[in-house]
Amino acid sequence: MTTIRLTNTRTRRKEVFTPIDPKNVRLYVCGPTVYDRAHLGNGRPVVVFDVLFRLLRHVYGPEHVTYVRNFTDVDDKINAAAQARKAAGDPRSLEELIRERTDETIGWYHTDMDALGALRPTKEPRATEWIGAMIAMIEDLIAKGHAYEREGHVLFRVRSYKEYGALSGRSVDDMIAGARVEVAPFKEDPMDFVLWKPSDAELPGWDSPWGRGRPGWHIECSAMSHELLGASFDIHAGGIDLQFPHHENEIAQSRCAHPEGSFANYWLHNEMLQVEGKKMSKSLGNFFTVRDLLDQGYPGEVIRMVYLGTHYGKPMDWTDDKARQAKQELRRWRKYALDVEAGEPHPEVVDALSDDLNTHQALTELRVIFTRLMTLKVDLEQQCGAVHWASRDDYRSAAARFLGSCRLLGLLQDGMGHWSDIEAQNSERIEQLLLERAAARKARDFARSDAVRDGLVAAGVVVKDTPQGAEWEFGTDFDAAKLWSI
Ligand code: AMP
Ligand code: ZN
Repeated sequence: MTTIRLTNTRTRRKEVFTPIDPKNVRLYVCGPTVYDRAHLGNGRPVVVFDVLFRLLRHVYGPEHVTYVRNFTDVDDKINAAAQARKAAGDPRSLEELIRERTDETIGWYHTDMDALGALRPTKEPRATEWIGAMIAMIEDLIAKGHAYEREGHVLFRVRSYKEYGALSGRSVDDMIAGARVEVAPFKEDPMDFVLWKPSDAELPGWDSPWGRGRPGWHIECSAMSHELLGASFDIHAGGIDLQFPHHENEIAQSRCAHPEGSFANYWLHNEMLQVEGKKMSKSLGNFFTVRDLLDQGYPGEVIRMVYLGTHYGKPMDWTDDKARQAKQELRRWRKYALDVEAGEPHPEVVDALSDDLNTHQALTELRVIFTRLMTLKVDLEQQCGAVHWASRDDYRSAAARFLGSCRLLGLLQDGMGHWSDIEAQNSERIEQLLLERAAARKARDFARSDAVRDGLVAAGVVVKDTPQGAEWEFGTDFDAAKLWSI
């Protein structure tokens, strides 16, 4: 069986991955807080851990992997969005407005992440559907002396868990010195964090032994992962920004409530995404949602390829240049992968992914495999002519394995190639216009040939006349509507 190695944040080492039960490999990824569209940075963990999910399914079998990713649908930002709508005069109740906002955002999330080619996780629990499990876990923590109630709040007693800080390598005293904690009069210790907080009549709330209130964010993941994956599971993943305090707090809650379990054995963290070398921010004008880019005409598959060009453990930079290159490459790959059934992936690609999810290396291997496929095509063209290479069994089986290798990274999926079908139609149109132009020139109909040339320029097609004939490419300002009105 393939050996997978993963860099475990918990030990800071690359380790051989050994699942607790190879018949049920369990992965938990912290999901989005559903108050707004996912931004380009939010798409990165979705795509990189989707590749992990695909690799685990490949190695252990699709039916032997359980992937849970939650929706945080109770949160102060969600409440604020709903309250703003109410303040703007919406007559509906706050509950209705919150439900509408979270349902709508979950719908967007699905559409946008589907467009990036991410498989849906096995389970996508909504926090509000697991409040009972959270209350039970909090009661258990209080009974075990790890939590206490003050003024309607329940707080986790950080000093009661000796290993607190081990994941991020910080001591409790460093953290206090760093003052990244909220001081509140009702806390025994400034480090203690909220498990439950009171809700006034204006806010969503659930009845609990501590009055009407709502859960803190960290307890959601601890309770849902326990309910759906158990007290010990294999991999917990998320962005590096969640390592402290979110993951540190999840560990403290889960290990104290379920000392019989190990919680997560392997921790994976993706680094952050930047845009053109800068932190993405609304004030810099470089803040994009995934939907913005899709609407601007970047195919989801192209966005995916750009994510996968950088190892998940390194900061990545989104640039237009990378997107352009990815598009060019995918256009060629799609053209020559043909309409074959995907075959077994090449071992070089499986090995690259098994080496700590090295997607960058896997893409390099795919390029080598594609070059071999093109060499085979040229050989076959010489042997059997320009038309027949594509129907040869040897070409088709090599293309099938190339396709199967791409699919392991979620590239060249069925249903994601719409953009390239449209491009193929546009290419055909351009080729046909160039033939028309050549014929017009030959017939000395310069009015027609100039009209075609000008039309192509206006449509943003870059044409270069060479001794071998006209060469062309789509310019950055390509406009399909203008192309079809020539
Ligand atoms: P949030 O909804 O803000 O909790 O974020 C959802 C996921 O996106 C988390 O796993 C974050 O770590 C991740 N994330 C947020 N910003 C970025 C970024 N700029 N680059 C990569 N991942 C990010
Ligand atoms: Zn979480």
